[in-house]
Amino acid sequence: MLGLMQSQPLLISSIITHAARHHAHAEVVSRTTEGALHRTDYAGIERRARTLARALLRLGVQGTDRVATLAWNGHRHLELYYAVSGMGAVVHTVNPRLSPDDIAFVLNDAGSGLVFADTSFVPLLAAVAPLVPGVRAFVMLADPAEMPEVALAPGQALLCYETLLADADEDFAWPRLDEEQASALCYTSGTTGRPKGVLYSHRSTLLHAYAVNLPDVFGLRSIDRVLPVVPMFHVNAWGLPYAAPMVGASLVMPGRHLDGASMQSLMNSERVTMSAGVPTVWMGLLQHLRATGGTLDTLRRLVCGGSACPPMLIDTFARDYGVQVDHAWGMTETSPLGTYNTPKPGMAALSPEDAKALHYKQGRAVPGLDMKIVDDAGTELPWDGATFGNLMVRGPWVTRRYLNADTDATDAEGWFATGDVATIDPHGLMEITDRTKDIVKSGGEWISSIQLENIAVAHPDVAEAAIVGARHPKWDERPLLIVVPKPGRAIDPAALLASYAGKVAKWWTPDEVVVVEQLPHTATGKLNKLALRQQFRDFKLASAAD
Ligand code: AMP
Repeated sequence: MLGLMQSQPLLISSIITHAARHHAHAEVVSRTTEGALHRTDYAGIERRARTLARALLRLGVQGTDRVATLAWNGHRHLELYYAVSGMGAVVHTVNPRLSPDDIAFVLNDAGSGLVFADTSFVPLLAAVAPLVPGVRAFVMLADPAEMPEVALAPGQALLCYETLLADADEDFAWPRLDEEQASALCYTSGTTGRPKGVLYSHRSTLLHAYAVNLPDVFGLRSIDRVLPVVPMFHVNAWGLPYAAPMVGASLVMPGRHLDGASMQSLMNSERVTMSAGVPTVWMGLLQHLRATGGTLDTLRRLVCGGSACPPMLIDTFARDYGVQVDHAWGMTETSPLGTYNTPKPGMAALSPEDAKALHYKQGRAVPGLDMKIVDDAGTELPWDGATFGNLMVRGPWVTRRYLNADTDATDAEGWFATGDVATIDPHGLMEITDRTKDIVKSGGEWISSIQLENIAVAHPDVAEAAIVGARHPKWDERPLLIVVPKPGRAIDPAALLASYAGKVAKWWTPDEVVVVEQLPHTATGKLNKLALRQQFRDFKLASAAD
């Protein structure tokens, strides 16, 4: 043998043991369901995760059993992440915003036998329990004094998390597992058909966490205090529960209240430096700051992803609050990080306007992940920033096969079709034009709904906007703009449509404006385009009467 490096498996337990040893006193602060702030550190999380692993063994968890969570971001959820994966089982994070029927479907599909739930989900548990005969116990994330009453089905036990921990000891050694073994399970949002299970492995999770921590990506440091607004049930809070302890950054967990006022107060009181979430959350924070004249005292950076980040958000946070907003793209199937937008050296020579336009895009491929755009025949398209095509990705943290599927989700060369339509420019910056099914097809040409929505939300009277394709006898589809006004503002449709002049080709301008009080959202806080398309399926455009 020539000699070689050590063969240490990449294991999730190594993240928390490193954090406990080298960053023992880095804080984990959590807003509890009851409203108080709970404080612990990485040494405390690791110790309680070991104790929890002992308790799980006693509850009969073995092998790669699935253990489900229905929980907001908090220290107990973090303990579950490390205990369940660390002992070799699979933590199945369930999105509580799904319908009871879909929750039952994912629990049954995953074969999860235990469900750990926040007390705020008691009514939901009562609805779901009779539909999941395979669940033998629901464990409430609570002290004995906070234990609620829950009507469960026969044969299902109601247990108390803190009692389980009090009855177990911490005498547990993290096992040496196969790094390719499954560690966590998350379902796609399921706005089209049933949700599909994406299984992450120890190896994919570690590699993704290293990539997340690169300087041109999240670039976390031990001095950071990170607030994941993105829930731990939405693609593992984008990897933050792994990436932060990996470098010893503190975590500030917001619990269930994700409105602007709660965010601002927690960010300032806990000296948060970095946060991540979907645009809807940042819109809420911005509206609160504007309405109250509030400030962000320590926050330096926000990551915005999950849906297209409106340029207005990026500009306003930078100009009025000194906060840099970084645009990122990813999906459940990509763990989720795929691209991240930070400048390259050559861009310094650009005019401020051109540089800004580049900064709005979804970003460059994170090292380890490769991407390309192809036409419908699968031929690769040029990186000219104008040609758009189907976005394909591959890499060690991209799904190969969905849970319980018979065939791979990739082509023969390992490429995964994202279902997104995008351009890639000569800098390697990718820009999402649309979800394939959201694009408006007018007279055989494609119109980007995202670009049209971004223009609408930049208008001072508009709080939120959506574009759907309305049926048209001549053009097949034409863009219909659906908007929610800001509180106390009235929308003048003609003025709003006039604001498109010069920003897009004239034929891209929406045909009509519909003002509504609110728009439907999916379980992960994105615009629910499927519901909107159904709602406006029979909408008669005035232009269609010509
Ligand atoms: P999910 O698996 O629920 O996280 O959804 C993934 C999908 O969200 C992607 O395929 C995109 O369509 C969309 N998405 C995520 N991030 C962005 C972004 N920055 N801009 C536009 N769309 C995005």
